[in-house]
Amino acid sequence: MSSSISTIPLASQVGGHAGVLTSEDGSLLIKPASPPEHQFYQSLNTNPAFDALRPFVPKFLGTLKLEGQVDETNQGLDPGSGIAVKQLPEAHQKDEWSSMSHGHFLVLENLLHHFIRPNILDIKLGTVLYDEDSSAEKVARMEKTARNTTSLETGVRLTGFQVYDNATNEAVNTPKSYGKSIKPSDLSEGIARFFPALSVYNTQGLPPKLLVPVLKGLREDIAEIREAFASVDLRMVGGSLLIVYEGDLAKAEDGAKWMLEEEDEEGEDDDDDDDEKLKRGPPYTVKLIDFAHTRFVPGQGPDEGVLKGFDTVQSLLDGRLKEVESA
Ligand code: ADP
Ligand code: MN
Repeated sequence: MSSSISTIPLASQVGGHAGVLTSEDGSLLIKPASPPEHQFYQSLNTNPAFDALRPFVPKFLGTLKLEGQVDETNQGLDPGSGIAVKQLPEAHQKDEWSSMSHGHFLVLENLLHHFIRPNILDIKLGTVLYDEDSSAEKVARMEKTARNTTSLETGVRLTGFQVYDNATNEAVNTPKSYGKSIKPSDLSEGIARFFPALSVYNTQGLPPKLLVPVLKGLREDIAEIREAFASVDLRMVGGSLLIVYEGDLAKAEDGAKWMLEEEDEEGEDDDDDDDEKLKRGPPYTVKLIDFAHTRFVPGQGPDEGVLKGFDTVQSLLDGRLKEVESA
């Protein structure tokens, strides 16, 4: 049996291959994905070895097939729900993603769904940027890329980000060429660009009283993600931390208030809100994304290059917090 859902392009994509989609209501993220990424998400949902990591990855809701385009002999994948993706942008018919994904899409939670003005940063993690099965030529090229960027020394690279400007109500984009061009000593400036303090001199970002709880909350969440990641035997190549915080001032203010209320009454259930968009919660989120080149390596321990990346992100957030608090 098959039904269909309508899709539209993801309004705010800051990194990766173009062409990520969402459902029309914005709740679902639909991404063409290679067989290894499908397999990663399937084992994430079923293998107890990943229990610790599961809360820190977008919810995996299933797979979709592009009707009429599926190679049935394809890699023994779970055939998924068999839902047709309607209104697929024409570019998808022929681009590289269609060919590598064989018309198979991942259906994930859209991390931007509850944000009015999402400020978004994609940080590529790890010091090793090539696969086990890469050609010698690709290994050499990716080693050079790691050396010539911040990746090798710090385990992170800023891939791309957007920050809303309160004067124009538009998102200002910083392309991946910026993150690729900077030195490790410039990373703190890059982080300050993503977390600008709103002032009479600067129309982007949040005022310090809202920026501080956002930075503290992210800092705590990332410490938890690091701990979970240290408990799994994975090699994650080209994966990212996706950091999102609310750029709408009223919504961010309500989110900060919500954080204080949560501290006061831990465990109390909030009233369900009818309108999903108005749902209350923290004014930020952070998750691990992009498992196209992630492998399970039982018995071999965690990915040290990715752990180094977490440490770098933690100290960058600590540094930014100090700057904002002392300004
Ligand atoms: P690629 O292999 O092309 O790098 P990614 O999984 O990194 O694919 O996705 C590309 C971009 O799409 C990310 O940089 C981010 O902006 C957006 N994105 C990916 N997954 C999600 C998600 N679950 N929610 C919101 N945005 C996402
Ligand atoms: Mn990516």
